[in-house]
Amino acid sequence: MVLTAVLTYDDSVEFIFAVQEEDTVLRQLHHRRENLPEGENVNRIEAELAELSNAKQLLSVQQLEILQRQKRCEQEVGAVESRISELDGKLYGGMITSPKEATSLETEIRHLKERQDELEEKILELMEEVEPQEKEIISISGRIATRETELITARDELLVAESEIEETLNAAVKRRELAANETDSELLKRYESLRGAFGSSVVVKFDGNNCKGCPSTMPAMESDRLKNTPEGVFSDCTECGRMVVR
Ligand SMILES: [Zn+2]
Repeated sequence: MVLTAVLTYDDSVEFIFAVQEEDTVLRQLHHRRENLPEGENVNRIEAELAELSNAKQLLSVQQLEILQRQKRCEQEVGAVESRISELDGKLYGGMITSPKEATSLETEIRHLKERQDELEEKILELMEEVEPQEKEIISISGRIATRETELITARDELLVAESEIEETLNAAVKRRELAANETDSELLKRYESLRGAFGSSVVVKFDGNNCKGCPSTMPAMESDRLKNTPEGVFSDCTECGRMVVR
């Protein structure tokens, strides 16, 4: 077994443990801040709002299309009406020279009136189609307004919750800074480099027989080696790789 380099930082022992403790607190606080129920509430309302806005937009587009069709029908009715009155004028204006011409005008007028009825019926149908859509749009708009009010409240609540955590975070950052300042910079560097691998148990204590970071009992040889390192001296545990101190 290769014994790894022994690092000696007597004075730093308690401070590096304090650094580690604050790092754990900070990680938990960050996690809490990212997963606040207030934040989830804001996300939920925002998602609902987006869904409602999409639905409203879709209905508005459909409604616009129907209104355009209605407008085209109305324009055609207008054209048909003026053509009818033009033909009526001819028919009753005493300008007709033959019965055949009168019959032909009457036929055209009849056809135009049929077309006018058809169009007017269509316009009524379109108006009936628009009506429930209009109601739905109004209802959705109302729900959007309610959600928007809820969102303002939810965002305020989130800000309050976040600032509470922020305060606790800042205090932990300060405590960590103080502890880090008291820790030997090499020891701190080594600790930082192992954080990704060991998280909240980079530095661990030797309980007299075993490294507390090791999942199982240490081999006697490694245990003996640690028993013989002076107190306050960090050593790399050859079993788990953590920084262990007696
Ligand atoms: Zn170990």
